[in-house]
Amino acid sequence: MEQIYTIPVNEAFDACAHEGEAEVGAEQKKPSCPCPVCRLYETLNENELSRILGAAMMEPDVRIETNKEGFCPTHFRAMFHRKNRLGLALMLESHLDTLREDLAPSLVGGLLKGVGTGAVTRAQKLENDCYICRRIDEHFAHMIDTVVYLYRTEEDFRRKFARQPFFCLPHYRMLAEAARARLPKKLYAEFYHDLEKVMLESLDTLREDVSWFCKKFDYRYENEPWYNAKDAVERAIAFLSGGEASHS
Ligand SMILES: [Zn+2]
Ligand SMILES: [Zn+2]
Repeated sequence: MEQIYTIPVNEAFDACAHEGEAEVGAEQKKPSCPCPVCRLYETLNENELSRILGAAMMEPDVRIETNKEGFCPTHFRAMFHRKNRLGLALMLESHLDTLREDLAPSLVGGLLKGVGTGAVTRAQKLENDCYICRRIDEHFAHMIDTVVYLYRTEEDFRRKFARQPFFCLPHYRMLAEAARARLPKKLYAEFYHDLEKVMLESLDTLREDVSWFCKKFDYRYENEPWYNAKDAVERAIAFLSGGEASHS
């Protein structure tokens, strides 16, 4: 497996295992999703945003792709807040030009498929496409495979994997599927056991914290401490939807 993937995977799993252990007795819990796979996603997302708002934005080949694919609402928002407003405007200018050509009335298309059909199909495709999401997905699939590869080949990584404090539900599912497809049966059983243990413990802790959060709205519990429940709603959402849902 290429080093460009093994290094970040090892780093994310090291950082999360370390944070999980440091968290015991710590006064404040980190509000971000502590899932190592969410962390990998976040790194890819940051890299892609820096790239597209940097030199890549003016490269003709990249521009052809962004003109065609556009961006999802999450990534438009992220770019808007990154403060390269002129760069973004230049990219939008050529994107709108391309779109204007594609959406222009076509006599032949209208006769063959019906008035506006081609333009509506183009608009619909744009709703589902995103230049950044596509690039992240391509790397992300390799990251997931690398997790399984490291589990198979490195004893040290297996220990690190079992020491994770948290796996969100979408990434638990992705890891389990990738491992089932790639590991020998016996090793897959071990992998799944480690993964399931972390996921179920996260679920049980969250259930308790959400429950305590609800109780705190009852006047009888008003003067009780919050314990870890103050951000229980955010953490439960992060568990259920993965950190990806909380991108800004
Ligand atoms: Zn996750
Ligand atoms: Zn996107």
